[in-house]
Amino acid sequence: MQKKITAIVLAGGSGTRMGGDCKKQYLSLDGKPILFYSLHAFQQSRVDEIILVTNEREYCRNEIIRKYSLNKVKKIVPGGKERFHSVYAGLLAAKDCGYILIHDGARPFLTEDMIEESIDAVKIHFACAVGMPVKDTIKLADDEDFAAQTPKRERVWQVQTPQTFSYPLILKAYQKILKEQPKGITDDAMVVEYGRYAKVKLIPGSYENIKITTPEDMAVAEAFLKRQRRYKKEPKKFRKKMLTNMHR
Ligand code: C5P
Repeated sequence: MQKKITAIVLAGGSGTRMGGDCKKQYLSLDGKPILFYSLHAFQQSRVDEIILVTNEREYCRNEIIRKYSLNKVKKIVPGGKERFHSVYAGLLAAKDCGYILIHDGARPFLTEDMIEESIDAVKIHFACAVGMPVKDTIKLADDEDFAAQTPKRERVWQVQTPQTFSYPLILKAYQKILKEQPKGITDDAMVVEYGRYAKVKLIPGSYENIKITTPEDMAVAEAFLKRQRRYKKEPKKFRKKMLTNMHR
C-alpha cells in the first residue's frame, strides 16, 4: 500500500518584519494572497492532504480554500508562539501519514518539480531539504564582527522549504527538542540533526523560491511572477532572449 503524503503549510506567523497591517502571508501578489500560491502547488501535486496552520481560520477558509477550490486542505489548525510550535501543531494533526512536507506559506514560488523531487528523495534518505548553493562568499563572524572563517563556497547552501521527512522520524525528533529545549533551532532539518536521526539530504530548489519577509521582497516577487507569465505566454521567445543575454 502507498504511504500517505501530507503537506503542512505554515501561515501562523505574525509577519512583523514586513510592517503594515496585513500579515505577509496574506499580502496580495498579482491579485491573490501569497499563501494561495503554495497551497495551489500542493493541490496540483501528488500530495494526498494539506494541513494549514493559521490563526486566521475563517479568512483562509472563505477567501482562499473555498474560493480557489483547494479541496486537499483537510485540516486547519491554530499556530503557536514560535515557528516550531506551529510545526508541532501540524505534526499532531497529521497522524497516520508516511511522509510529511513542511513548507513556509510565505514562499509562493514552490513548484511541482520541487514537491516531486522532495518526495522521491525522502523515500531514499528519510529526510531532505530544498536549498541552493550560495552565490556570495560567506563569512562566519566572531563576537566582535571580525571575519573569523570563510567556508568553501561550493559547500555552503542556503536552505529553503519544503523540508520533507519520514513522519515517525520527524515526530520523534520534535518531541525530543520540545523536551530538551535546545537553543537556536531555526529550521526543521536542524531538529533532525539535533537528535541525529538521519542525515538530511540537500536537494536543489530554485533561487526564485524566496521567503517573503521584508517589503523589498514583494518587489522581487512581482518581478519573478511577471517573468513567469512571459515565459508561459511565449516559452521559445523567452528562452532565446535569456540565452542571448547570458552570452553577452
Ligand atoms: O517568521 P518566519 O519568516 O521564519 O516564518 C516562516 C513561516 O513560518 C511563515 O510562513 C510563517 O507564517 C510561519 N510561522 C508560523 N508560526 C510562527 C512563526 C512563523 O506558522 N509562530
